[in-house]
Amino acid sequence: MEAYILSITSIDQMQEESMRLLQTGKTIVFVPTMGYLHEGHLALMREGRKHGDSLVVSIFVNPTQFGPAEDFQTYHRDMDRDISLAESVGVDVIFAPEAEAVYDKAYQTYVDLDMLPQHLCGPSRPGHFRGVATIVTKLFNIVRPQVAIFGEKDYQQLVIIRRMVCDLNFNIRVIGVPIVRESDGLAMSSRNSYLSEDERHFSLSLFQSLQQAQESVAQGISDARELINGAAELISSHPNTKIDYVAICDPESLEDVDRVEGPTLMALAVRVGKTRLIDNAILKP
Ligand code: AMP
Repeated sequence: MEAYILSITSIDQMQEESMRLLQTGKTIVFVPTMGYLHEGHLALMREGRKHGDSLVVSIFVNPTQFGPAEDFQTYHRDMDRDISLAESVGVDVIFAPEAEAVYDKAYQTYVDLDMLPQHLCGPSRPGHFRGVATIVTKLFNIVRPQVAIFGEKDYQQLVIIRRMVCDLNFNIRVIGVPIVRESDGLAMSSRNSYLSEDERHFSLSLFQSLQQAQESVAQGISDARELINGAAELISSHPNTKIDYVAICDPESLEDVDRVEGPTLMALAVRVGKTRLIDNAILKP
C-alpha cells in the first residue's frame, strides 16, 4: 500500500508533527532544499531514507541567502512537480513554509561564522552564508532531526553546516552526499535550467577543468598555481564564461594551499552568461 506524503506549510503544524514523531520514538531525517528538484536532490533523499523512520524535506527559497542583485525573484519553482518527485523516493513530509512566517516584520536574529564564509563563494556573495546558517538553524529547530543530509555540490555550505552543528551543539548527525552529474559531467543544479543551449555546452568547462587538474595531479604536478592556471585557461577558452574564482584549498579550513600533497579541494565558480555555476572535486595525488 502506498503511503501518501504529508504536505505542511505551517511552522506550528511542522513542530507538532515533529514532536509527535519524536514522542513515538521515531528518528527524523531531514533534507533541506530550495525546490525545483532534480536527481541530485533525490540522491540526498534516497540516502536519507536509509537513516531513519521519517524523512522530512523542506522546500524554501530562502530570501536571506540571496544578494540584492541575485536571482531570488526568478529562481524556478514548481511545487506540484516537487511533491510528486519527493513522493516517488519515499519522502514522508514536505515542509514548505511561507517566507513571511519564517521571517516576520520584526525579525532580527542571525547566525554567522567567523572564518569559513570568508573563502571561496563568500567574497562574491556577501551575507550568503549568514543567510544559509540562519535558515538551517531555524529549520533544525522546527523539524528537530537527528540526521540531516547535504550535498557535496555545495561543498563550502557542507563544511559550514558541520562546523555550526559542532559549535552550537546541535545533536544532529550531518551526512554529505557526493555530487550527482549529468551524463556529460555537468553537476546537476536547479540553475542549469537558466542555460541556453550554447551556455549549457560552455558550462562543461567546469567539470573538464576539474578532470584536467586531477589528471595533472596524478602525473605528479603538485603546484597549486600551475593547476589553477591550467583550469583558468581551459575555462576562458569557452566564450561567454567569466571566472569568479578557481581555488585549491584545505578541505576542512578552506584556506588556500600552495601544493597538493594529500586530498585537497579544488573548487570553482564561473559565470556562464548570466548564470553563476559552482563545482568542486577532491584532488588526490
Ligand atoms: P538547493 O536546492 O540547491 O539549495 O540544494 C539542496 C541540497 O541539495 C544541498 O544540500 C545541495 O548541496 C544538494 N544538491 C544540489 N545539487 C546537487 C547535486 N548535483 N549533487 C548532490 N547534491 C546536490
